Amino acid sequence: MQKRVLILAMSSVLLGFSGAVSAEEDPYVAGFEQYAKELGAHSVTLEDSVDAYAKDVIKTEQKVGYIGDALPIPKAVKVKDGVYTVVGSMIWHNPSNFGLNNNLSFIVFKDGVFVFNAGANPALAYSLHKQIKQVTDKPVKWVAVENNQGHAYLGASYWVDVGVKNLYSSTMANDQFRAGFPSIKEEWSIRVGRAITSSARNVCDKFTTFDGELKIDVGGGEYVLLKDFGPGHTPASTSAYIPSRKVILTGDIGFNERMPVFFSYTDSFAWEGSFKNMLDQIPMDTTVIPGHGTPTDMPTIKRQTYDYLVYLHKAVQKVVDDGGSMADAEKVDQSMYKDRPVFQQAAKNNARHIYTEITGGDF
Ligand SMILES: [Zn+2]
Repeated sequence: MQKRVLILAMSSVLLGFSGAVSAEEDPYVAGFEQYAKELGAHSVTLEDSVDAYAKDVIKTEQKVGYIGDALPIPKAVKVKDGVYTVVGSMIWHNPSNFGLNNNLSFIVFKDGVFVFNAGANPALAYSLHKQIKQVTDKPVKWVAVENNQGHAYLGASYWVDVGVKNLYSSTMANDQFRAGFPSIKEEWSIRVGRAITSSARNVCDKFTTFDGELKIDVGGGEYVLLKDFGPGHTPASTSAYIPSRKVILTGDIGFNERMPVFFSYTDSFAWEGSFKNMLDQIPMDTTVIPGHGTPTDMPTIKRQTYDYLVYLHKAVQKVVDDGGSMADAEKVDQSMYKDRPVFQQAAKNNARHIYTEITGGDF
């Protein structure tokens, strides 16, 4: 059935082209006319020929980084008036989630739309943009990224290509992404897919960078306050606080549902302190869009991230104080968190990580 539709579409393209412009005027059109003649001469194999042609077109498009139709990503959730987020998958980035395993958010202001996180590749950025256009006809004017990770940054070249001039990141994250770009792009190409990642370009030079905090006037008397509360999951981390909407987009300082995950560069003790900084500065009745997991409130994000860090730090410290080994640290009871996504991959690793942070290793 799909084949027939495709053939109909193809024939109308061919007829349309040959009818509209004379081949003498345009060699591109002449190519189509020649192709139409070939098809006519081999009408028995028409179906196969069109099929092969269609496949070839798709292959060529993918090779040059053509984005194609929007990806079937989840619909953006309305968090508050004018505040939306597409909740990313809570497992690792892989081909089935297109690298969408963090939250991509947007806020509609008087003068335009503010996007938080560029997405893991241009196709994701494009798909998010399509959703934005269904909500508002205002242009995307600002894009900020949560940290130096691929799913925050690799889609940024799409936003540059569609004319966004105001891109924001912390100075450290921007420097780290610039230095790491080839390996970050390669890692996401391997994990998510080469075709979908191939068109991502390094556009670090287009970013406005900040240290500590940056206030962005977004019109209508409102502003977005970008804040780096301190290191944690990543060495530099950006949150976006919008006091007029009572919303904070925490970036990777806040994990809901999904287990907080420690990478080699994670400073888990600093993370606890940075989270405390956020608690000291942001009112408890603020709505939270976390870096990972569904939108929530401050008491919940505190319980899901901060309380977990505090618990595990205390428990592993006790193991160390009692002269225990890394294997003993692994046995620290985390069973109360067993239903959280990626528990199996994260729990023991997190305990080992903290043990190493305290002792400098298992000697
Ligand atoms: Zn992340």
